[in-house]
Amino acid sequence: MPSIAIHPSVDNGFKATDATFSGGTLVCNCASNPVKVRVKGDIAHNHACGCTKCWKPDGAVFSVVAVASTDNVKVVENGDKLAVVDPAALIQRHACKACGVHMYGPVERDHPFKGLSFVHPERFEESGWAKPGFAAFVSSIIESGYDPAQMDSVRTRLRELDLAPYDCLNPALMDYIATWTAKKNGTLHA
Ligand SMILES: [Zn+2]
Ligand SMILES: [Zn+2]
Repeated sequence: MPSIAIHPSVDNGFKATDATFSGGTLVCNCASNPVKVRVKGDIAHNHACGCTKCWKPDGAVFSVVAVASTDNVKVVENGDKLAVVDPAALIQRHACKACGVHMYGPVERDHPFKGLSFVHPERFEESGWAKPGFAAFVSSIIESGYDPAQMDSVRTRLRELDLAPYDCLNPALMDYIATWTAKKNGTLHA
């Protein structure tokens, strides 16, 4: 049985994490005048994502997406090619108008993720970024047209790749969001 494709960066084994990775430059897919975004410091919470909003390379079922502090994210070249995909969305995904790659997506509204930007580490020129640690929004791949009958195989493959499958975010992030909400509501005292 052919193995289920998840994403090119994990399907054939992931390169070992380089403990010294301290940021790099994200580059879009344009052959000329690519957009370049500098990210200072390492990324966090890298994961595979099955939602319909994240950018994915051709043929990928999942995206690979992580966060960095927005303070550490800076557009350094050809920023005039960027446009926000959906201004109403929580994540303000800035995509290259020419090639479609999402370069960074800051969260600016009042939310536990405020101050973070979502980035796709496969666009780093450098290697060595932290490998994805779980798979989020797995059931959502059906919304992109994936065969619902294959979902057991998809979740089995994700577990083989050490990407624990969740149909929302992982427990650490869900707890973080709930804690933020409870403090905001006054249910929990900081
Ligand atoms: Zn581009
Ligand atoms: Zn997503």
